[in-house]
Order: sequence, then structure tokens, then C-alpha cells
Amino acid sequence: MEKNITPKYTNREITIVWQPSVCIHSTICWKQATGLPAVFNSKERPWIKPTEASSAEIEAQVKKCPSGALTYYYDNGGGK
Ligand code: SF4
Repeated sequence: MEKNITPKYTNREITIVWQPSVCIHSTICWKQATGLPAVFNSKERPWIKPTEASSAEIEAQVKKCPSGALTYYYDNGGGK
């Protein structure tokens, strides 16, 4: 992967943007108790699979990211 490219993951409805340099590895997004491990799994590649949950679930999870590393937008222009 080229430097300065911010990875994006879409299910064609919602796009998750992850900024690795901002992530503080809080584990909130991928731990069973606090996260959405079907979507966020740091042991797999790609580590974000946006097709494994509803867009509403993804939106709610992204909003819990404490560092702001995760953001999202709706592909139809809504959201944030
Ligand atoms: S919740 Fe945010 S800061 Fe924590 S591991 Fe996930 S992306 Fe990184």
C-alpha cells in the first residue's frame, strides 16, 4: 500500500474510513464486549469487513471510536 493513502471500506451504502496514524489501538471496535468483531477483526486482512453488519450498526460503532481514527460517510452523500 502506498504511503498517505487512507484505507476505506465500503458495503456500497456506508463507507468506513480508518486513519491508522490516528488509531490509539483502544481495542474498542473489535473486542466482543464493546465492538463489532464481525466487521472489525485485527487478525484478518482486510481487517474491516463492512458487509458483515448493517450500516446502522456500523455507524453506531464508528461513533464509539475514542480517537477519531474511524469515521464514516454514506455513499449517497448523507451521514457524519
Ligand atoms: S476504536 Fe478507534 S482507536 Fe480503538 S482500535 Fe478501533 S479504530 Fe483504533
